[in-house]
Amino acid sequence: MNRADEPREACGVFAVNAPGRDVSRMTFFALHALQHRGQESAGIAVSDGERVTVQRDLGLVGDVFDEPALRSLTGDAALGHVRYSTTGSNHWENAQPVAQMSEQGIVALGHNGNLTNADELRHQLIEAGAEVRASSDSVLIAALLARGEGSLLDSVCRAMPRLVGAYSVVALSETELVAFRDPHGVRPLALGRLPEGGWCVASETCALDQVGAVVEREVRPGEAVRICATGTESRQAVPPAGAKPCVFENIYFARPDSQLNGQAVWESRHAMGMQLADEHLVAADLVVGLPDSGTPAAIGYARASGIPYAEAVVRNRYVGRSFIQPDQALRQQGVLLKFNPLPSIIGGRRLVVVDDSIVRGTTTRKTVAMLRDAGAAEIHMRVSSPPILWPCFYGIDMAERSELVAAGRTPEQVAELTGADSLAYLSLAGLQRALGRPGDAFCRACFTGDYPIPLPSVADKRRFEVQPTPA
Ligand code: AMP
Repeated sequence: MNRADEPREACGVFAVNAPGRDVSRMTFFALHALQHRGQESAGIAVSDGERVTVQRDLGLVGDVFDEPALRSLTGDAALGHVRYSTTGSNHWENAQPVAQMSEQGIVALGHNGNLTNADELRHQLIEAGAEVRASSDSVLIAALLARGEGSLLDSVCRAMPRLVGAYSVVALSETELVAFRDPHGVRPLALGRLPEGGWCVASETCALDQVGAVVEREVRPGEAVRICATGTESRQAVPPAGAKPCVFENIYFARPDSQLNGQAVWESRHAMGMQLADEHLVAADLVVGLPDSGTPAAIGYARASGIPYAEAVVRNRYVGRSFIQPDQALRQQGVLLKFNPLPSIIGGRRLVVVDDSIVRGTTTRKTVAMLRDAGAAEIHMRVSSPPILWPCFYGIDMAERSELVAAGRTPEQVAELTGADSLAYLSLAGLQRALGRPGDAFCRACFTGDYPIPLPSVADKRRFEVQPTPA
């Protein structure tokens, strides 16, 4: 796995209502558990029943909040957000939670996903006289909510039919905390109950574990939930449109200790690795996983194939996205800043190298070169997902189609391009078998091009073009 120059997933959210507890500190810890979903900015909003206070900044959660900051954020309910940027938008203004003032008060909001009708919404809001300063789709949602009469839950229920796209959102006013999810449930969102009193909601269950919450259930597609101290009030704000949770969460994004739809992510990835071995067995001495996201699938591959699993690459956990780019000389060497191989294990061995996905092929190319330098006799790349052929419009800033290395190339061509002795992907059917659910139970647009939600009307058509493959 290499996040340094890769496509970016947008965000993780958490919210809690637990009067008498240190809700900001709980949010701070929960955001640490969601840090893998966004490392560019972090923020917390807290309400004491009369005032909403927001603090957000660029940086990791631990950089943005120190002890005095946490102590000053007092209240009964809080929400938090971590964000990945898209290229070039590394600005403070894009940090969340966003906050929108109105005559009714303030609404602070954290959003994971991507609206596909943002342009239409912006025009509608401006025509209706709203002042929409920033351009992000999250700001548009906040503007819609702030204009409503009645309760925040009422505003959410009025706004949701106007939103098209993927959204898992937490919103906080002076007196209410509401979580809501798009009618396809593309991005994850799970509800938890605190045994000592209070309720919370998070992008991933690992954040609920972090604060000692019992996982209750997922927020349902199209559902809006008011999260109170003593329970939840649910409304089906828009009819569910057939659940299409993003399958790439299961493959790569979610932490392996989370559950998605009641399924343990680690187990799913392990099963993908076993399935991969069934489909693409090769004679080798060792199975190596690319830490961390490739590891469960590599263990699965090893178990199914009987080839021993080895830790052959050590990952530097302190190199984040903000890490300074290598200079040209280092880049030419193809140095992977995050990985260091163990030549004593690799030397003279035929390796099966398992990674969870290939996007542009950069990581694979560098990894193969690194392992060859370390003395590997053969390198057989095995990828525990099908080829990524289509860009994502629902919250993952994937490469454009022309940049996706698998688009327009056979596995053999990708092997040649990356220098691997062989390369093979898990089949779509194999992926579904590993997940134990039918294909139509997921959004798999990045593999199939079959987009379950209308795309932006101004979607750049070039995203769908593939440059001719060099012979
Ligand atoms: P690439 O180097 O472009 O082929 O990217 C593939 C590598 O990045 C794999 O090792 C994945 O674990 C990781 N990866 C896949 N999707 C993403 C994403 N959306 N954001 C960051 N890293 C990713």
